[in-house]
Parts: sequence; C-alpha cells; structure tokens
Amino acid sequence: MRNFLINLMRGRYGPDNLGTALIFISLILSLILRVLGLGMLAALPYALLALMIFRMFSRNITARRRENDRFLRYYAPIRTKIKNRVARLRDRKTHKFFTCPGCRKTLRVPRGRGALQITCPRCGERFVRKT
Ligand SMILES: [Zn+2]
Repeated sequence: MRNFLINLMRGRYGPDNLGTALIFISLILSLILRVLGLGMLAALPYALLALMIFRMFSRNITARRRENDRFLRYYAPIRTKIKNRVARLRDRKTHKFFTCPGCRKTLRVPRGRGALQITCPRCGERFVRKT
C-alpha cells in the first residue's frame, strides 16, 4: 500500500498550501450554499475539490509551484495577522499589548509592572504606558 502511494505520487506535485485552502474554501462554501438554499450552485464546492485533486496529481510542478507562490503572496500577511490575534488572546492575562506611536508595530509588555517606558525594537520610539 505504501509503495503503491509512493509510485502513484512519483513525479507529481503533491499537496500544498493552496490545496489545503481549496479544501477549506469548498467546505465553507458548501455550508454557506446549504444555509442560503442555493442548490443550483451545489457543484461549485466539488469543482474546487476537483481543482485541488488535479493540482495534486499534476506533473507540471513548475506551474503548480508558481500558483502556490502567488497564493502565498496574498495569504501570508493574512496568516500572520491571524497568528498574532491568536497569540494576543492566549497571552492576554500575562501581557499587555500596545501599538507603537512611531511605526504602528504591536508591542507585548508583561502586565503589572506599573508605568513602564517602552522602547520600540523596530523604530526606537520611546513612550510610557501603564502595565
Ligand atoms: Zn516603532
């Protein structure tokens, strides 16, 4: 079975970030279409899954990689924002978050240290905030 899969995927592109995104988009889209009762568009999520499978088994690795790079150019900043939001939620009891008045970078400072002078590591701006 393992050898069968190895032989099947030899010389083919395989899974990537865009493929994973296509799976999620088709799942969310099929839920939305079901909730809205738009049965005539029910094939759309399956078309996205078919595209994902086509890309995975494609032998044109250069073209698939280029598509994935183009996708990541748009998606990477969004993924960073989501990760930062999650980290902020996770650390909200132990740290406070401030926006640097100089460059708008979000800075993380431990809570309960009184008024602190904060120096931005990116632009060097100094400001005082109560932690
Ligand atoms: Zn700054």
